[in-house]
Amino acid sequence: MQQNEDFIHGLLDFVKKSPTPFHAVQNMVGILEGAGFKRLNEKEQWGVINNQPDQRYFVTRNDSSLIALTLNQPLVEFGLHMVGAHTDSPCLKVKPNPEITKHHYLQLGVEVYGGALLNPWFDRDLSLAGRVSYLNENGHIKHQLIDWEKAIAVIPSLAIHLDREANEQHSINKQTDLPPILMKLAAHNPDNDEVNFNQLLLELVNDKIASLQCNDAQKAMKILDYELSFYDVQAPAVVGLNDDFITSARLDNLLSCYTGLMALIEGDGDKNTLLICTDHEEIGSMSAAGAQGNFLEAVLRRLVHNDEDLSRMLASSLMVSADNAHAVHPNFANRHDENHGPILNEGPVIKMNANQRYATNSETSALFKQCCVLAGVPVQSFVVRSDMACGSTIGPITASNLGVRTVDVGVPTFAMHSIRELAGSLDAFYLYRALRQYFHECA
Ligand code: ZN
Repeated sequence: MQQNEDFIHGLLDFVKKSPTPFHAVQNMVGILEGAGFKRLNEKEQWGVINNQPDQRYFVTRNDSSLIALTLNQPLVEFGLHMVGAHTDSPCLKVKPNPEITKHHYLQLGVEVYGGALLNPWFDRDLSLAGRVSYLNENGHIKHQLIDWEKAIAVIPSLAIHLDREANEQHSINKQTDLPPILMKLAAHNPDNDEVNFNQLLLELVNDKIASLQCNDAQKAMKILDYELSFYDVQAPAVVGLNDDFITSARLDNLLSCYTGLMALIEGDGDKNTLLICTDHEEIGSMSAAGAQGNFLEAVLRRLVHNDEDLSRMLASSLMVSADNAHAVHPNFANRHDENHGPILNEGPVIKMNANQRYATNSETSALFKQCCVLAGVPVQSFVVRSDMACGSTIGPITASNLGVRTVDVGVPTFAMHSIRELAGSLDAFYLYRALRQYFHECA
């Protein structure tokens, strides 16, 4: 089993290398292949996977969602120990016709993806990454992940002298206030109108293709479309006088993806385990690759012979939905119920809601608590104040779609949905130990 320092180092490195869900899945695939997992393709025939011990597989959808599983016991009788998380985070996505050239600057039009906390996006050094689809020399449509890997844009604040109310009241217009600035254009140059973002992309894609040194790689001739999002280039860090905290973009929810993955691959082959990491949670999960789509159900159906077997397998299964929780912030402690304020570095949080915005029930909560006890990990619980609305996550979606017992858990964090979130430097490792216990030891 890993130790905390190595684990945190691996986590922060993973988050840094995963600026988009596409990159997160690509990096998870690399880790899985290194651990002996074989890729399954949804287009191919799998057959019903036999009951040999220690079978390890993974399958991806849309390059942005992933399921990894290990099969060791008869599935119908023993079911699966499952963990779910999400690969996406709130961000700014580039519009299809993005060029804005006015007042001698090139800017890109952006859409806000998910419930982003927008103020922290100002005055950050931003880069751009995602997936590009293009036509190659042979006329075939190909897809390539790209990442500028350097600060290419910024959204400067308006000086307080021009906005005297900025500290008292400041609202952000998503259409007009957010387009990042990429470059200064020459004044009085008629060519300014010709700046073409697709041309910039084409050059970057061809640089990327050349760097891959793949023999059969054909040059990109025309950009057809893309999904690109801005991200902060500041590297994740361990911070605090006593190194108590980690800060980074996308801790919600790449922290849970990485933690679930590490817990899964270190199995010693005695249980059936599954990790699902889906895209589009931040916008409601309703997509082919999202948790409201049929990805998990479609994969599970292909592991058994018939509907009765599927129902029996699911009745013996359990899902731990892992997504970050709100720690009680000392400056804003009244936003929490006095008896339910999760504390950083005090262990994973079980999220409860009487109205089932979280899927936890007393049975699944008890099972997870016992896993934590057996792993020697502290555990906390969260309910939202009764006079505030409760958030939600993939837990209730999966529980209601599949009818599988589910518990919603997550590590406590500050600044959720900011461009730089904060978690305790012990909690990811605590969650890893709890999930490892759950995957491999718990009944
Ligand atoms: Zn989340």
